[in-house]
Amino acid sequence: MSKAKAQIATVDDLNAQIADLQSQLDSKTAEYNELSNEKSSVEDLTQQAYEEGWQDACWENGIEPDTDDIGGYDYTAHLDDGDEPESPTAYITPSGKRYHLSQSCAGENAIKTTIAEASDKGYTPCMNCAQ
Ligand SMILES: [Zn+2]
Repeated sequence: MSKAKAQIATVDDLNAQIADLQSQLDSKTAEYNELSNEKSSVEDLTQQAYEEGWQDACWENGIEPDTDDIGGYDYTAHLDDGDEPESPTAYITPSGKRYHLSQSCAGENAIKTTIAEASDKGYTPCMNCAQ
């Protein structure tokens, strides 16, 4: 009997612990939600302050702010420009071995590419338009 009582006591104890943890979880969840809201409003304000401050600084220096540049920490956008040297546009056809500078010379199956890429693939210049 005493063993069963002890077990009941243990179950009651565990239930109490569960209830306690549940209430802790509830309060932590509420706290978390509150902090999340706070965090997103801080982020909003930071972004707003950044945009406004940045644009104000432009106006003060007589520069019209380029709003496309907001969040201008995207260095890759600038790096991309330098990565591939521009090669003039060329046109190839799936069946041909020549690349063309004139789309009309390449014909209606013309695929737009660049001279560099066409040469890489073994295309040679068209006698009519690419010499
Ligand atoms: Zn051609």
